[in-house]
Amino acid sequence: MIKGIAASAGVAVSKVFKLSHPVLEIEQRSANADEEITKLHNAVTEAQKDIELIKQNAVGRLADEELAIFDAHLMVTQDPEFIGQVEAKINDESVNAEFAVKEISDMFIGMFESMDDPYFRERAADIKDVTYRIQCHVMGVQTADLSSISEEVVIVAEDLTPSDTAQLDRRYVRGFATEIGGRTSHSAIMARSLEIPAVVGAGALLDKCEHGEAMILDAIDGTIIFSPDADQKKEYSAKADKFAAHKESLKVLKDAESVTKDGRVVELAGNIGTPNDVESVLTNGGEAVGLYRTEFLYMDNSELPSEEVQYEAYKKVLEAMAPGRVVVRTLDIGGDKELPYLPLPEEMNPFLGYRAIRLCLDQPEIFRPQIRALLRASVFGKLSIMFPMIATVQEFRDAKAIVEDEKKNLSKEGIAFSDDIELGMMVEIPAAAILADQFAKEADFFSIGTNDLIQYSMAADRMNEQVSYLYQPYSPSILRLVKMTIDGAHKEGKWCGMCGEMAGDERAIPLLLGLGLDEFSMSASSILEARRIIRDLSYAEMQELTDKALNCSTTEEVLELLDNVNV
Ligand code: PEP
Ligand code: MG
Repeated sequence: MIKGIAASAGVAVSKVFKLSHPVLEIEQRSANADEEITKLHNAVTEAQKDIELIKQNAVGRLADEELAIFDAHLMVTQDPEFIGQVEAKINDESVNAEFAVKEISDMFIGMFESMDDPYFRERAADIKDVTYRIQCHVMGVQTADLSSISEEVVIVAEDLTPSDTAQLDRRYVRGFATEIGGRTSHSAIMARSLEIPAVVGAGALLDKCEHGEAMILDAIDGTIIFSPDADQKKEYSAKADKFAAHKESLKVLKDAESVTKDGRVVELAGNIGTPNDVESVLTNGGEAVGLYRTEFLYMDNSELPSEEVQYEAYKKVLEAMAPGRVVVRTLDIGGDKELPYLPLPEEMNPFLGYRAIRLCLDQPEIFRPQIRALLRASVFGKLSIMFPMIATVQEFRDAKAIVEDEKKNLSKEGIAFSDDIELGMMVEIPAAAILADQFAKEADFFSIGTNDLIQYSMAADRMNEQVSYLYQPYSPSILRLVKMTIDGAHKEGKWCGMCGEMAGDERAIPLLLGLGLDEFSMSASSILEARRIIRDLSYAEMQELTDKALNCSTTEEVLELLDNVNV
């Protein structure tokens, strides 16, 4: 039994399809520059044809956003910076084309891999994928053909490149297992989007299995078993059937009300990173968008996105979700999220530094276009604007003043905006939770960002493995902060939501319900399960449970209480 990271839930009892890409032996040779340049150009053309073909085959199977990866790949093949440097190397040094491609791509890959931001590290995967393809064509090497699979298999690979993943045919591919990668790697994201079970980062696999060998992939627990015995096959087939039946059974809840047995109605919303994500919020029965992380719009660009580009994105989301609410969070950059075109000062503690609303208030020339774009888009749906990382009432007032100022400017210019826009804030800094009753006099709503609230309350970096034991959502300290926030909002007649990961955590939902949370915002794929749980619970009983939990002294005691909740 091998353990990995469960990246996309599901269970498969099937057989191994070993996918290994031949390792290219690339050595430097002196060669005729003109001939090598011709070889390079032919190989680039062939690679472009491959990418176009894979993209065409993937249309309809992948969301637009995933298809965009192939445009990114085509862009690499057309990038004058990249291709120009390869040509220059061949011309200046009279070396073989595959070697020049390797040298230049290694330099770009190294640059992207050294960036802290996972988004940019993933760009390194794109360059690797494309250059491998070009090198294979230069050298006349055949690569594995995933589109030829015509029977049910689980793919076992070191890692899947984005183009591998796009070629997977859901009729036959029951799942995949990779040696490397994490939950945010390309292949993991694609697997969730295609709803193919996947276990990633499982360590050595290819040495431990044979092509065609029977295998079990349990992407609920992250378990891989090669050559299972009859009992294991039976056990996991039953688990697979149960999982499929459960998923199917949840579909009836798509349009059901999010209401407890005793009549408390809450709102179930989805978190999105791009306008295209709205679609899966809707198909999974989301009633609203509770968090639109706009920083992706900034991270996906090579410069600050213009007011116009932002307006189009916000309009698209608001229209798609209308009449449901869309909570758009203003730029939350800094900390772990960097923009390559916006240099930030080196800091000892970037998580405690110059970021999010702090940066936006300091650089209004960045903040104001976003506010204007939001106000202009507000006529297309129900907009709520949310400011991240608010620590003081003054910060909220300053941010609000900029919104009011831009409203005045738009009015002067005769540009329309909605007169019904809520202005709210993330509660993710303990200072804001503690003073929630005061904040609630000025903010229209709160959304609790537990991802950060926990790290700041426990003084434990959310990315640091060594202190991950302190990352305790069920700790009585965190529950008390959540309670203070919700009570503070309710005292002023305002609503309180949560958009941190805790909101979609099946074990936490009973507690959050009991604490009086009004809105739960989570990844789209968790919404139906959350609705099922809420509909099975009694609000009154959860209030009693929560009272006990708030008086526990340890996380373990809270977990013991939760063990008795039947969901
Ligand atoms: C949070 O901090 O809980 C949150 C939702 O924001 P992010 O994960 O983007 O920091
Ligand atoms: Mg946060």
